[in-house]
Amino acid sequence: MSVVGIDFGTLHSKIGVARHRGIDIIANEVSNRATPSLVAFGPKQRAIGEAAKTQETSNFKNTIGSLKRLIGRTFADPEVQEVEKKFLNAKLVDVQGTVGVQVNYLGEPHTFTATQLVAMYIAKLRDITAAELKNAVSDMVIAVPGWYTDIQRRAMLDAAQIANVNVLRLVNDTTAVALGYGITKSDLPEDGERNIIFVDVGHSSISTSAVAFSKGRLVVKASAYDRHCGGRDIDYALVQHFGEQFKEKYKIDVFNNPKATFRLVASCEKLKKILSANAEAPLNVESIMNDIDASSKLTRDELEQLIAPVLDRITAPLQRVLEESGLTLDQVDGIELIGGSTRIPSVRAKIQSVFPGKVLSTTLNQDEAAARGATFSCAMLSPVFKVRDFHMTDINAYPIKLEWDPIPDSEDDTPLTLFPHNNAMPIVKALSLRRKEPFEVQAAYEDPAGLPGGINPFISRFVAKEVPADPSGDFTTVKLRARLNLHGIMSFDSYYIEEVEEREEPAAMDVDGGEAAPPKKKRYTKKKELPFIATHTSLDKSIVEQYREQETQMWAADKLVMDTEDRKNALEEYVYDMRGKLDERYASYVQPDEKTKLLAALQEAEDWLYTEEGEEATKSLYVQRLDALKKLGDPITLRWRENEERPRAMAKLRETL
Ligand code: ATP
Ligand code: MG
Repeated sequence: MSVVGIDFGTLHSKIGVARHRGIDIIANEVSNRATPSLVAFGPKQRAIGEAAKTQETSNFKNTIGSLKRLIGRTFADPEVQEVEKKFLNAKLVDVQGTVGVQVNYLGEPHTFTATQLVAMYIAKLRDITAAELKNAVSDMVIAVPGWYTDIQRRAMLDAAQIANVNVLRLVNDTTAVALGYGITKSDLPEDGERNIIFVDVGHSSISTSAVAFSKGRLVVKASAYDRHCGGRDIDYALVQHFGEQFKEKYKIDVFNNPKATFRLVASCEKLKKILSANAEAPLNVESIMNDIDASSKLTRDELEQLIAPVLDRITAPLQRVLEESGLTLDQVDGIELIGGSTRIPSVRAKIQSVFPGKVLSTTLNQDEAAARGATFSCAMLSPVFKVRDFHMTDINAYPIKLEWDPIPDSEDDTPLTLFPHNNAMPIVKALSLRRKEPFEVQAAYEDPAGLPGGINPFISRFVAKEVPADPSGDFTTVKLRARLNLHGIMSFDSYYIEEVEEREEPAAMDVDGGEAAPPKKKRYTKKKELPFIATHTSLDKSIVEQYREQETQMWAADKLVMDTEDRKNALEEYVYDMRGKLDERYASYVQPDEKTKLLAALQEAEDWLYTEEGEEATKSLYVQRLDALKKLGDPITLRWRENEERPRAMAKLRETL
């Protein structure tokens, strides 16, 4: 069993694991603590994370990023069409109403849904973690944006299921950061509150939360977002600038050349980072197109002018969080910055302008705070470690209403806001209705215009198949329980009636030997559960199963490709290694005819490796070939080893005598 927390970022993701001595952010197969959030498809195999990044330039059309921006969306969503498309090179398509990609995989066109792509990525993070822990991984907490809606959250859980990962919680990312902050502070007030505002400016969005801390607990007071303001918007502004400049300067149009644009984006991101610490920076893109080496430069002042529209968006969510929290500036005890883009001086200046006179603190690890927090959350939910409990109350971003067909004389007003904006969560609420006939209740977001892009406000439909008749022929009072759970997902929990029963309590003994009290009648309410059906936007179980099977197959195919490559390398290595050793180390342990025979076999294997057949053989063929060579070579190796070990064994024997 393992305790794992994931910060699922637009650009990179980070993995935290809990160990006895604390929480570690782990490194991936190439020793990076952040893994590119990319999935790619090739002629022989998929490439995910670092491997996808390595081949991105040469295969950008089959490489997909922005995974967290796509999951839970439809193809027609205006945010997908007008915004996400700008940042993607792969072909987006409609797959049964959801957004997917069409890619070239195994030499053929294939389509995958965004949920499947996220599943592939989660599986990769799972494998990275399992390799580090040398243990299978199943339980995780994943940090997601607080602005995710029900359908996006459900899609994340579907993706995790496809990847065989059990999500103990989808935690809002700034809440995870707040948990990491609170749980490590030993000086939180017993009485009163310490109010901290967390500001995360990442690659694609801004998230901010005002959180009240006291000893052993945190309460999120308000959260606010700009889903379209982050590092990638800055990169985009720079690409526009240089693209225009190169039209004049080099008479080239990079915008008509996806590869050139792609390479310019990478260079602009580099330039942007240099400008965070320097007043001026160069831009160089070798052979950007038409054999032209493009170069230019930019000052920090020029950058600030170019990105003014992006910078201007930063203050609004910060003002909103302050306002909704009800805190005055004086009551704000600290501001904690996280997210890569808060390293930009002009971004900081904008944040500062909302909190004049306050110190902007960067004591949290800007890049890893969310993953650490998610890992703490996992540790608290998992039985593996005993962690000091820290109570967390988060809030609901979008108001949820329940609606039903009005029933004359039933006195049930529809619609009803069940979970208002900023309602504490997780939470369960019960609703009483007066009914005679089977009925339906629909749960939906109350304000569709306030939701991301074109997300359908529908959440769930509840269908009661029966209503027990009231003996007097009147309406029956039935109850529904709705839950906003740990993941921020809403569901109908139960449907029931309450029956009141009077039961006699056994009389209490009078120990003083006086008169026994008369038996008491006590009223009990008994819950009687009734059948209901609730539909929601999670994938159908059969589809999850089908995707899971497909994922398992692709995973196994990738593994076979890697293992085959590994066995091929082993064969190649044996040929070179053995040939060298025959002349040196093994020279006095080999008979001449034995040597001739082995050398010939090595040569034959080498020649074969360079034939078409040998280049692309199966794993078992490489294994067979290697085994055949070892049959000839092992006796020699053994002779040498025995001779090497004999004196050592003798010495050991002498010691013990
Ligand atoms: P999101 O939270 O929006 O989903 P993310 O978590 O992947 O995205 P972060 O890792 O917080 O994003 O930040 C990445 C962004 O920060 C990128 O745009 C990157 O270019 C930018 N960034 C990182 N370091 C610097 C720096 N020194 N100067 C300027 N920008 C930087
Ligand atoms: Mg982030």
